[in-house]
Amino acid sequence: MTLTTTHELPAFIGGDKTNLIGGQWLPATSGNTIDVINPATGGALGTIAAGDAADVDRAVKAARTAFEGEWSRWTPHERRKLLLRVHDVILENFDELAMIETLDMGAPLSRTQGLREWTSQVLQFFASQTGAGTVAAPPNSLPGHILTLRSLRPVGVVGGIIPWNGPLIGLWWIFGPALATGCTAVLKPAEDASLSVLRVAELMTEAGVPPGVINVVTGYGKDVGAALAEHDGVDRIAFTGSVGTAQTIVRASAGNLKRLQMELGGKSPDIVFADADLDKAVPGAAMGVYTNSGQVCVAGTRILVQRPIHDEFVERIAEFTQTIRVGDGLDPDTQLGPLISGRQLDRVLRYIEIGSGEAELMAGGRRPEGEGSGGFFIEPTVFAGATNDMTIAQEEIFGPVATVIPFDTEAEAIHLANATPYGLAGGLWTENVGRAHRVSQAIDAGTVWVNCYGILDPAIGFGGTKMSGYGWKGARDHVESYLYPKAVYMNIGE
Ligand code: NAD
Repeated sequence: MTLTTTHELPAFIGGDKTNLIGGQWLPATSGNTIDVINPATGGALGTIAAGDAADVDRAVKAARTAFEGEWSRWTPHERRKLLLRVHDVILENFDELAMIETLDMGAPLSRTQGLREWTSQVLQFFASQTGAGTVAAPPNSLPGHILTLRSLRPVGVVGGIIPWNGPLIGLWWIFGPALATGCTAVLKPAEDASLSVLRVAELMTEAGVPPGVINVVTGYGKDVGAALAEHDGVDRIAFTGSVGTAQTIVRASAGNLKRLQMELGGKSPDIVFADADLDKAVPGAAMGVYTNSGQVCVAGTRILVQRPIHDEFVERIAEFTQTIRVGDGLDPDTQLGPLISGRQLDRVLRYIEIGSGEAELMAGGRRPEGEGSGGFFIEPTVFAGATNDMTIAQEEIFGPVATVIPFDTEAEAIHLANATPYGLAGGLWTENVGRAHRVSQAIDAGTVWVNCYGILDPAIGFGGTKMSGYGWKGARDHVESYLYPKAVYMNIGE
């Protein structure tokens, strides 16, 4: 394992960060702060504000004032130009943003820098979505001479609550549709990873996003997130995170019947059929679990393998797993960085202990040799000899832990794939095109990958079924969920 400490850190790193509210950078009303920890070293990188209900109230009021003010008169074309300016400023500063993300949440630079093209695509997609509305002039299906105007209006103030596993991705799912539709937003990043969001907010302000249109309040979920979910001035909550938190938010949001979008967890199946090309399926399925140290909602953590190739697959994935380089994300050779926190490390170690009692540990399972950096590293881990009812096959671990489960027939694979409370994603590996179509339709999940895993086009989008939540991120569906339709029927008869 390599640890690198020689990088020049971005000037943004260090010091006390504050909240963006109504165009001003303000400390928490309480004056409280939270230490920012580099998960690769355990060392401090400054502080963020520990906001609470008072800060949320200020931010929501600022967002409401902006929503009802000048911003409401911006034309779709002006909003499109703004999004394209944001696009340019963000891309010009992308190296710095990637470095901040790596320092703050651990993902290797290879991953955070790799988000450049995706970020460009997501911003250009939302820039292309700023116009809306339909007019139905006579003759239409109505009696008489009626002109109908169906317009799409922005829903208002959106509260965004995102997790720590990819803030540089998650923030665009809030700010992108908000700017595209003329909504305003108050975003609460996770307490463990807020820095890249704060820097993006600075850059968006520089790019010309008006005061109050985007606001960021950092702090703990129980303080900031809960206050946003309850606040009567918030019209919509867009939440990404765990099922338990989602259930709390649904209850808290009942007061003013907020519109909700819930993107939650998963225990996604990745099915390897006997006819699969194992040279692709082994690394593909492995990285489908390990990417971002397994801290990915769509991770294909249940690898279902057809019995004739099961033993060979297990041997090969165990070998592959041992070649993966775990280390400080700043090292260009690092493939997997640390977990986000000591708490997450303890959680993953606990699941590895449970797994060792349930199934057979084939690779990993320990903290890397040479560890002692203070960072939260864990080896990528494979369990085999598992059954689908085991704890490690049913619960979301959110770490680099793969569970291999054998199956015999296609029907059994589909049954096992769907035998989970979740329905976020799934994958399959086969050279049989008919089977690829049949099984991808039969998997009860929002996204299915065939002979690949984890790719995402913002113009297509993704979302979940069952306990993985509801609401679609990306595509026109996402934009329309920030709008409500309004109809005007006008009698233009003589
Ligand atoms: P989490 O639910 O603990 O936290 C997510 C966010 O909610 C954080 O900002 C947190 O501060 C906030 N929060 C916590 N308690 C709150 C409360 N009472 N009211 C309002 N907000 C509150 O989730 P996590 O552990 O940070 O993230 C991991 C989870 O997120 C996993 O389940 C993962 O699968 C899921 N996830 C889903 C997607 C997706 O798009 N489906 C993407 C990434 C992560």
